[in-house]
Amino acid sequence: MAAIRIYHLYPAHLNLYGDRGNMLALCRRAEWHGIGVEIIPVEPGGRIDFARCDLLFMGGGQDSDQKLVAEDLKSRKSEMRQAVEGGMTVFAVCGSYQLLGQYYITGSGEKIEGLEIAGLYTEAGPKRLIGNAVINCPLWKPPRTLVGFENHAGRTYLEPGLEPLGKVIIGAGNNGTDKTEGAVYKNVIGTYLHGSLLPKNPWLTDYLLEKALSFRNQEFKPAELDDSMEHQAHDAAIRLAGSRRHRRLSTRA
Ligand code: GLN
Repeated sequence: MAAIRIYHLYPAHLNLYGDRGNMLALCRRAEWHGIGVEIIPVEPGGRIDFARCDLLFMGGGQDSDQKLVAEDLKSRKSEMRQAVEGGMTVFAVCGSYQLLGQYYITGSGEKIEGLEIAGLYTEAGPKRLIGNAVINCPLWKPPRTLVGFENHAGRTYLEPGLEPLGKVIIGAGNNGTDKTEGAVYKNVIGTYLHGSLLPKNPWLTDYLLEKALSFRNQEFKPAELDDSMEHQAHDAAIRLAGSRRHRRLSTRA
């Protein structure tokens, strides 16, 4: 039986807007596809065995929590970068997406050092970027939409050569100006989209499972699943993101 091991980093500190639901979606879909899953939660100071990690998940966090976990990540930086270069899958949302880059300068001017895994940097802007978002994601041919919820002060800028996760259709994305959202580097996906993201974008869940399996030379044999509920949730989120009422609410924050 195919099996993967997921390390869930800092669940007590990084879990905004239902990010933990991503783990539930990964587990449940893996189970439906007949893939065994072991989940290892790690809090600051805990052990991460990168040689045994197939997929690493980190959720979003407030600046104070980001600072705390960034401190813990410092000593793991080179091991983590090595694992990423070797093909480990990483899925990082919002606060931890920011930590994949060079640095994050918070609203109070504090500089939090990043993991320097991907060529990006983040600086807080004067107004939070809040609301439901829709992006067009080219990880599939033809591209597929991803829907999620964003709430961030940080503006992230990608250095030349780093691919975004997608193009913004509705929402702010990385910085509210260049229409990019998230980033993809090797098997690393960073995104501002909370939600939780994976339950209503099942193709991204399967994408992550496939990457994690192929990293250990295991084949992803997808079961035929009835995804009608997930599609309904996806389409409802698109309608909500596009509604005028929602846009009016989200610009107020
Ligand atoms: N503290 C970061 C910001 O405001 C990340 C927030 C989050 O993870 N939602 O930009």
